[in-house]
Amino acid sequence: MSWHATILTLFPAMFPGPLGASLAGRALEDGLWRLDTHDLRAHGLGRHRTVDDTPFGGGAGMVMRPDVVAGALAAVRAPDDARPLIYLTPRGKLLTQADAARWSVGPGLVLLCGRYEGLDQRVIEASGAEEISVGDYVLSGGEPAALVLLDACLRLLPGVMGGAESATEESFADGLLEYPHYTRPAEWQGRAVPPVLLSGDHAAIRAWRRAEAEDATRQRRPDLWAAHLAARMAGRRPPVDSAASVATASAGP
Ligand code: SAM
Repeated sequence: MSWHATILTLFPAMFPGPLGASLAGRALEDGLWRLDTHDLRAHGLGRHRTVDDTPFGGGAGMVMRPDVVAGALAAVRAPDDARPLIYLTPRGKLLTQADAARWSVGPGLVLLCGRYEGLDQRVIEASGAEEISVGDYVLSGGEPAALVLLDACLRLLPGVMGGAESATEESFADGLLEYPHYTRPAEWQGRAVPPVLLSGDHAAIRAWRRAEAEDATRQRRPDLWAAHLAARMAGRRPPVDSAASVATASAGP
């Protein structure tokens, strides 16, 4: 059985969207993963298929009703469905490369996309949904967040990405950002490629890349660098899950 993504959304037309092109699109055509999208509106109430209501306690915006969302979930998710259920929300845990790696080796995911002010908290708790954020900013809906999360998982599926070594060398694979890349021409607009990359000395190239990765992490992501140093002191691999975010995490104090 191929990796299976189920999306619950008020905007099914947004899928597969960009995931219908390039690597993910080809993998979808080849049956390496499959996608079904369900319109939450179909489970709305009354003639107008209402899915939201005003917030208890007052305030701006509308909240998605728990009975509507629960009805949709019951309709699309079999009781023995082993796939994790994820609600995309800025209140969630930041998405990490480790999450994507873990989910990519499972059977797939069920993704719940919010709109308006989000979902009634009771249906999040009752359904056991994991709350995941793609970054410290607010999107107008969970759909772009679901596309980001899916993309991060899909490229890790066996057969989707060309060179398997790319995934082990890239940013976050060992708790560091990746080193910079260069290609031809060797000189462009007066800017030369770092000479070591033309030396053919593979040990020197490895050392240079490692130093560049460490420099970039130290300067750009003090949060990752601190986690990396702590892991190095303790003689273990860096805690990618807690620190290295797929999205740009806020560098906290
Ligand atoms: N009132 C919410 C808050 O301040 O946390 C924001 C609601 S947002 C306008 C509507 C929906 O977009 C959310 O229910 C969620 O599904 C999605 N969303 C927005 N930002 C997101 C993010 N950073 N990560 C994941 N989902 C997000």
